[in-house]
Amino acid sequence: MDIVHLLPDHVANQIAAGEVIQRPASCLKELVENSLDAGATNIQVIVRDAGRTLLQVIDNGKGMSQTDARMAFERHATSKISRVEDLFSLRTMGFRGEALASICAVAQVEMTTRRQEDEVGVCLEIDGSKLVHQEPCACPVGTNLKVKNLFYNVPVRRKFLKTDQTELRNLLTEFYHIVLVYPRVQFTFVHNDEVLLDLPAGNEKQRIEAIFGRGRTHAFTSNLIDLRTDTELVSIRGFVSKPESSGKNPQQYFFVNGRYMRHPYFHKAILTAYSGMLPGDYAPSYFIYFDIAPETIDVNIHPTKTEIKFADEQAIFQILMAAVREAIGKFSLAPTIDFNREGELEMPLPTAPGNTTGPRSGTGMPHIQVDPTYNPFHRTQPATPRNWTTLYPDRPAAPALSDDAQLPLYEHDIPTGIPYQYADRYILLPTRDGLLIINQHRAHICVEYEALLQQLREQQGVSQQLLFQEILDLTPDEMAAMETILPDLRAIGFAIDQFSKTSYGISGVPAQLPQSDALMMVRDILQAVMETGTDVQQRWQEQIALSLARSIAIPYGKILTQEEMQDLCDRLLALKTYSRTPDGKRVVTLLSNNELENRL
Ligand code: ADP
Ligand code: MG
Repeated sequence: MDIVHLLPDHVANQIAAGEVIQRPASCLKELVENSLDAGATNIQVIVRDAGRTLLQVIDNGKGMSQTDARMAFERHATSKISRVEDLFSLRTMGFRGEALASICAVAQVEMTTRRQEDEVGVCLEIDGSKLVHQEPCACPVGTNLKVKNLFYNVPVRRKFLKTDQTELRNLLTEFYHIVLVYPRVQFTFVHNDEVLLDLPAGNEKQRIEAIFGRGRTHAFTSNLIDLRTDTELVSIRGFVSKPESSGKNPQQYFFVNGRYMRHPYFHKAILTAYSGMLPGDYAPSYFIYFDIAPETIDVNIHPTKTEIKFADEQAIFQILMAAVREAIGKFSLAPTIDFNREGELEMPLPTAPGNTTGPRSGTGMPHIQVDPTYNPFHRTQPATPRNWTTLYPDRPAAPALSDDAQLPLYEHDIPTGIPYQYADRYILLPTRDGLLIINQHRAHICVEYEALLQQLREQQGVSQQLLFQEILDLTPDEMAAMETILPDLRAIGFAIDQFSKTSYGISGVPAQLPQSDALMMVRDILQAVMETGTDVQQRWQEQIALSLARSIAIPYGKILTQEEMQDLCDRLLALKTYSRTPDGKRVVTLLSNNELENRL
């Protein structure tokens, strides 16, 4: 008998939903993005029990016809692209045509929608991918979509949800990421009948104030400095906090072409610009909007990823850092600028459908000419404002090489040249402060460790399937430990399931891992976690990340290409600190300029 068959649609949809809809926040993101794609100028979000019971989005967008309304819930149904080429000129947030199909596979969905040109709208109900009801109905123009009992038919997922507080925080974070780029659109956010956010249409500064200024005596935005720079490569605009008003709980946002992104390396550029100006553990707030030719960035089209790769990362690093310094410098020279001036920022609405980025008209902001090769550390560069250099006292010299006890925290190194591999185990990197000597294996552990922890937190691990399932036999205490860390192993990309009373079957491993090591890998992790004897999730997550990072990391003796070295250095220097590996081994040492001068 033949046994291969196609999966029924509702099964395929539920599998896809696992990727697209991981938690209420991802569902919210998809719905709100659809409303924006539909040209809505008013969007209301109504949530119950952090999205567990209800997640409703009401918009005044263009609505759908009866047929489209039904079609929209099919897999790969979209009005936004029809040809492969369309992918490269996207002006909408969505395009995969997967969101609604995924949502309706794992929830009970009710939607009413009407177009301007239709007299009556349509109302439909879908329950676990099955259409249960459809009829014409009277309703306002736009779309009103309710997602009820998310994951009601996927108990594992539902169990996986965090506390209401955490899920609500996730929802709001996702919401901020969107509303901060669409200040012209009016939004409200209601949770359990309480209006948490009421955001009138306005400019970006007003939007920031409306979100972060609540309950403060001084306007939040009065602590922000405008920043703007236009180069051939990139336009950067936005706001950074005044040094003295930076705090311990900073708001830090990057957006590129109208989308939120995370970018540890650019984050580093901003911190560098502030270095020496902030006390201890204070950090600046920033809201930075990049405008860049789409072909020079690689927007990972995975719906839940927020990391974006730029072709010219180092140049942009310099531009951004210079722009932030300029802004701070100008501010310190001219403290009388009126920060609350209205209409200061006539920012074009990004990526609304069919809306090309128009000319930047009527900005009252200073225009800063920036030389992309500008390096504020070259003393020979043309002068920046006069009292500028006093803002940046020279760093104390790094201690001598032998000083192992008091290892300095390396966190402000700016590369000034290209890396060079030495003895097949070290990378030599010229930096502003001297020659940084990097242990290649340990450096790679550090960067992979951070990346893996991130994946664990966001449950974004990508899995590669093993050809044959491998069986891991375990003792009862190991079985118990396994049960605890199972969700995290899965989050990071292991496909692993209980096989018998005393064993687990592994059918997939994280994409970064060599396939051959599956059994040993899981065993190692289990051992490491059990040894720490912790029941604190964060601790065992750290252990998992470290075990994996160790086995992924570049070994000693491996000859690296220039590109690999560059990439490793970039990622390493973008970390908060990289003096030691998570388990305390030295990663770098600095042969400081002073020391070198003393020697010869
Ligand atoms: P995508 O956004 O990737 O196209 P979705 O599954 O999110 O896929 O939506 C499918 C289609 O349904 C969209 O292409 C759009 O035509 C329509 N649609 C979804 N939400 C709305 C909305 N709020 N208003 C109007 N049309 C919508
Ligand atoms: Mg969509």
